[in-house]
Amino acid sequence: MSLFETEAIVLKTIRLGEADKLVTILTAKKGKVKAVAKGARRPRSRFGAALEPFTHCNVILFDKKPTVLMRMNQADILHPFIRIREDLERIGAAARMVQLASAILPEGEANPKIFSLLQAGLGKVERNDHLEWLVRVFEIRCLKHAGYQARLDHCLICHNELDAKPVYFSPKNGGTLCGSCARTISDPLEFVSSGTISLLRLAARMNWAGLFRLKATPKMLQEVKNVMDAHLTYVIGRPL
Ligand SMILES: [Zn+2]
Repeated sequence: MSLFETEAIVLKTIRLGEADKLVTILTAKKGKVKAVAKGARRPRSRFGAALEPFTHCNVILFDKKPTVLMRMNQADILHPFIRIREDLERIGAAARMVQLASAILPEGEANPKIFSLLQAGLGKVERNDHLEWLVRVFEIRCLKHAGYQARLDHCLICHNELDAKPVYFSPKNGGTLCGSCARTISDPLEFVSSGTISLLRLAARMNWAGLFRLKATPKMLQEVKNVMDAHLTYVIGRPL
């Protein structure tokens, strides 16, 4: 039995019983956890608005034993991300980030890089208008920090360097194939132009300021989306 304090981001809440909430949070110390917030649906509950989705808060949790749900004793707002809630498109972008983090992380395993990424990502969603690109960068980095970084430097079958010709992304192999090797396999593939490959590589490592200066054409953004949708669906086992 132990009591611990940690920063957390609210991923999801569902009603529980008469007046409680079951809250899924991404914590800095213990990764994704579920906790019961007793009385959270009562008027003037001590949790106030701290358990709204996307809220960054400081929580105190009581961890009874591995087989029993944690109890949330306290939650204090650090940053409510109010501007996200005022705009449907921002809500959509933030929801996609939160859903991906939730789907890709196992319970109870700390991942400080994904915690920081989600916190930074929500901050960008609140203040930036390039929402589609932002979500794609989040997806690319979230997969990387979860151990599923796409391998884009050479063909995964013949190991030759990729030239300027179109290449293919194989979700099953988690990376690129040259045109010749792509013809030899029957798994679904996504066509990718060489410019898009460069964009995918940069998105995994460049700082945010640099990423917002990149000029991606609508066609490249569509290819990035096709690749990421296919990769995420393969990794998670279902469409997000
Ligand atoms: Zn090849």
